[in-house]
Amino acid sequence: MKWWNAWRSERHPFPAEAWAEGLARVPLLQALPEEDVRRLGERAWSFLRRKRLALFDDELFDLPARLALVAQACLMTLHWSEDEARDAFANVHEVRVLPEAFRRKVEEMDEAGVIHEYEDERVGETWHQGPIVLALSDIQESGDWGGFNVIIHEFAHKLDMGNSLDADGFPPLPRAIDARDWHRVFTGVWDDLQAHLARGEAPPIDDYAASHPGECFAVCCEYFFTAPDILDAAYPELYALLARYFRQQPLQRCPSH
Ligand SMILES: [Zn+2]
Repeated sequence: MKWWNAWRSERHPFPAEAWAEGLARVPLLQALPEEDVRRLGERAWSFLRRKRLALFDDELFDLPARLALVAQACLMTLHWSEDEARDAFANVHEVRVLPEAFRRKVEEMDEAGVIHEYEDERVGETWHQGPIVLALSDIQESGDWGGFNVIIHEFAHKLDMGNSLDADGFPPLPRAIDARDWHRVFTGVWDDLQAHLARGEAPPIDDYAASHPGECFAVCCEYFFTAPDILDAAYPELYALLARYFRQQPLQRCPSH
């Protein structure tokens, strides 16, 4: 060990016990092989030391809970190199947790010029260079194998914003993935979602994916990591594309598979 690393790790010894406890609270992470668990713990610990976690109540989040929270974000880039993972979330400076599900009022004008006001049901919010904002109740609902994970959803938007100010469903791609393939596969999914809705049928994944290309990418990431069996059954080409993008096969560790 270099003296610098030795000095650093002495100042910030890895909290092995807290990590084990955090892990025990998140079924999604328990399925990981040992080597991944070790690496994920180190990445989550490093993330916590580099980024600000703003909590409305410090008591509510002990160290295991903090590690468990950021580990679900670090899971996404787990099989990327350390540099790639750090760059991918360079635009994340702060993660803010709010007590209640906060809803945004959305105004939309229809073709007749009538303004409709409704409440955006989706919680969590992310914008370029801004903090990631999460509702406590959504964090508590995340962590299972079920297709919903607000942490993965919001961090997917940050990945997406790695090359643009908006989440447009087109994150920076590794050289191994052709942008035309990405476009073709996602367009196919998008068209299928729209076709389901036009027929009045429920799409195979959350219909929030059909609201915007950026939401399509974020929702597909949620399914990829927390309900890969559903994603693979509905859109095998998309599952395979995301497996290449994330360099992971969550299907192999998914308990219902
Ligand atoms: Zn979103």
